[in-house]
Amino acid sequence: MTSADILVIGGGIAGLSAAAALSSHARVLVLEAEQQTGYHSSGRSATMLHYALGDRLVRALTLASRPFFDNPPEGFTDVPLGHRMPVLVHARDDEREALDRLDAEISTFASLEHLDAARVHDLCPLLKEDARHGIADFDALHLDPHAMLQGNLRRLMSRGGELRTGQRIAAIERRGGAWEIASEKGDRFSAAILVNAAGSWADEFARLAGVQPVGLEPKRRTIITFDAPAGTDLERLPFAKTVGDELYFAPESGRLFASPMDEVPSEPMDAQPEEYEIALAAFRMEERTTVQVRHIHSRWAGLRTFTRDRHPAVGFAPDAEGFFWLAGQGGFGLQTSPAMAAVVESLLAGTPWPVPDVDAAALSPDRLLRQPA
Ligand SMILES: Cc1cc2nc3c(=O)[nH]c(=O)nc-3n(C[C@H](O)[C@H](O)[C@H](O)COP(=O)(O)OP(=O)(O)OC[C@H]3O[C@@H](n4cnc5c(N)ncnc54)[C@H](O)[C@@H]3O)c2cc1C
Repeated sequence: MTSADILVIGGGIAGLSAAAALSSHARVLVLEAEQQTGYHSSGRSATMLHYALGDRLVRALTLASRPFFDNPPEGFTDVPLGHRMPVLVHARDDEREALDRLDAEISTFASLEHLDAARVHDLCPLLKEDARHGIADFDALHLDPHAMLQGNLRRLMSRGGELRTGQRIAAIERRGGAWEIASEKGDRFSAAILVNAAGSWADEFARLAGVQPVGLEPKRRTIITFDAPAGTDLERLPFAKTVGDELYFAPESGRLFASPMDEVPSEPMDAQPEEYEIALAAFRMEERTTVQVRHIHSRWAGLRTFTRDRHPAVGFAPDAEGFFWLAGQGGFGLQTSPAMAAVVESLLAGTPWPVPDVDAAALSPDRLLRQPA
């Protein structure tokens, strides 16, 4: 039996960033089912930090995370965690009202430029003529999830913490004031505190522990990559998004990637792209831009896991001593991970509360258990 002060289940960005933060206060051991970290959602995202998604709470967590990306802590990593990429939200005439509403919501978090049709096309020449209005955040970031995962892992290990991969936890019980858990291969671990950062599987993991699930809903999202038209200056292109949740695209490793922003309900699983959403991505790309998607170079899908109110669930389970939730990061788990890790550190180690604009009760799993479904 290997014991620690805190066991973190899940080696995605949520688990690793929380573990790194906690490792200066306690002996932390991360257990990951797969052979590598970030194999599921954390390795399949669109890797952006911007304010055009979520609501006020998500934007506040994103804003509080930003200093970490701009100035990573000493010794965190030598590789930048992201680089600046403009985010353009564009609209046709009939979408103008929705753009104005979004503008008002984002403006308190980011400094936006308002673009007329000429400037929209100057920033993103691939859009069709009917994209006549835009708001742009020139200070958004294209994140590097690999550098984020590795930086957190290095930080964890430098403080005496540990990661074990290939350890899918299959049995859990509370005995004598500690959680005792066993992996499928029969290794056993124990700690007084168990952090549930199992991503799409977090409800399943809670059930295994006899803890009431919070009602997580994993939703599949698809991305395709394809060649840009000859002569496209990929370096200058923004992350371009329709004001409604229809399409985003951006440059990626010498090509373009695009998503139809699908949200298909799914079981927790190794998500795979389906033909319909792949075709939808290509169709919407051709509907909103002048690009012809002739050959799809690659495709993938990942799960974005939401709570009922689309806010994360962070805090102790009210019904099980020492069982701590860190789940429901939806489509913003990378860009909010520094603030979320600091929230976990505050709740478990008593450090100052890191997000003044967000109340702990708004994140507490308790709220999800008390409200009717
Ligand atoms: C297409 C797409 C685009 C996205 N775009 C963005 C974006 O632009 N910006 C952004 O911030 N976010 C984005 N996201 C969301 C972001 O990727 C997620 O919010 C984030 O990765 C969730 O991290 P996680 O650690 O909770 O989950 P995961 O990375 O899935 O990690 C959970 C881990 O738990 C492990 N696990 C599960 N059960 C067990 C068990 N029983 N025992 C041991 N281990 C277990 C799993 O193997 C997994 O590795 C996007 C997601 C997708 C799919």
